[in-house]
Amino acid sequence: VFSHVVRGPEDPILGVTVAYNKDPSPVKLNLGVGAYRTEEGKPLVLNVVRKAEQLLVNDRSRVKEYLPITGLADFNKLSAKLMFGANSPAIQENRVTTVQCLSGTGSLRVGAEFLAKHYHQRTIYIPQPTWGNHPKVFTLAGLSVKTYRYYDPATRGLNFQGLLDDFGSAPSGAIVLLHACAHNPTGVDPTVKQWEQIRQLVRSKGLMPFFDSAYQGFASGSLDADAQPVRMFVADGGELLLAQSYAKNMGLYGERIGALSIVCKTADVASRVESQLKLVIRPMYSNPPIHGASIVAAILKDRDLYNEWTIELKAMADRIISMRHKLFEALRARGTPGDWSHIIKQIGMFTFTGLNPKQVAFMTKEYHIYMTSDGRISMAGLSSKTVPHLADAIHAAVTR
Ligand code: PMP
Repeated sequence: VFSHVVRGPEDPILGVTVAYNKDPSPVKLNLGVGAYRTEEGKPLVLNVVRKAEQLLVNDRSRVKEYLPITGLADFNKLSAKLMFGANSPAIQENRVTTVQCLSGTGSLRVGAEFLAKHYHQRTIYIPQPTWGNHPKVFTLAGLSVKTYRYYDPATRGLNFQGLLDDFGSAPSGAIVLLHACAHNPTGVDPTVKQWEQIRQLVRSKGLMPFFDSAYQGFASGSLDADAQPVRMFVADGGELLLAQSYAKNMGLYGERIGALSIVCKTADVASRVESQLKLVIRPMYSNPPIHGASIVAAILKDRDLYNEWTIELKAMADRIISMRHKLFEALRARGTPGDWSHIIKQIGMFTFTGLNPKQVAFMTKEYHIYMTSDGRISMAGLSSKTVPHLADAIHAAVTR
């Protein structure tokens, strides 16, 4: 009965790793997926995560019972505090509902399902370009996806006027997906001044902001600084949704740990919204897993562990920034034609190189370097040892 099933395509991002794994070359390099690697090219488990796990193992009172549908209560409270700030009026007034979800993706999906059921506008505007999974997550949740202008290939920066024009002509109440910081794939973020203009326009048009925060701490190295755009939107008293992921900033990729927060106008509304989120979650996966949430909660609630985390996080962010400088210098040393300053200007895990799909294919075939066909490279996958190989490949691709 399944013989008619046609083979589906590989995921454009995860498929890069599938191809990489098949390549026997000893010099192969995977810059596709956005996962942090050490200077030695190895995945990193943060020391603070190991410590928190040890605490959990040693605590004999811990059991493996089901969590509530909404997840671990401590984790939810601490996650909201991490983004909105310790003194956030919205938290103090109990206007925020936070539910533990399956990492960033699951948080986006639960938020989108809620909006499709309970919000009067079904249209969501996502940036052009954006993370490849966004359109699928929102479409399958029942929203109708449109794009707004975001990236300007000519300047390799923000198309701010295009963004304002597209928000300005969006129907009142439309949902707008905003990357909280370290925009994926472009590495281009609005300035604080631009964020303020965006906020004013969003609020004056009654648009519904849905923030996707997958990289808090990775843009500037500071958790608070990276939370600033979201905090500006909370400070004005308006509503918003927020999807948080701990995949990158705690290196908890496979634990699938994240949170969805909905900031409401009153505590009463927030509690009714939460009751509906439970009805979204229960038939999907009943309740979320306990381990990742316990790790995050242990780190966020202990001052020493929290401080240790911020130091390790900053070290990851700094290593990525140093890779940006090394790659930029290596291209300059080779006299590679073009302006490559965007490599050091862009923010977060990725550089949007400007290489076209043909150049990318050439680099994969001749140099065994793997990346998404839009020319996005994960700076976190580079090391001092591999930068020269990448620079050689880029040089060859643009001069052939
Ligand atoms: N949003 C963005 C912008 C991302 O880059 C990612 C991860 N690549 C996610 C959400 C979701 O990641 P996860 O589900 O692993 O937390």
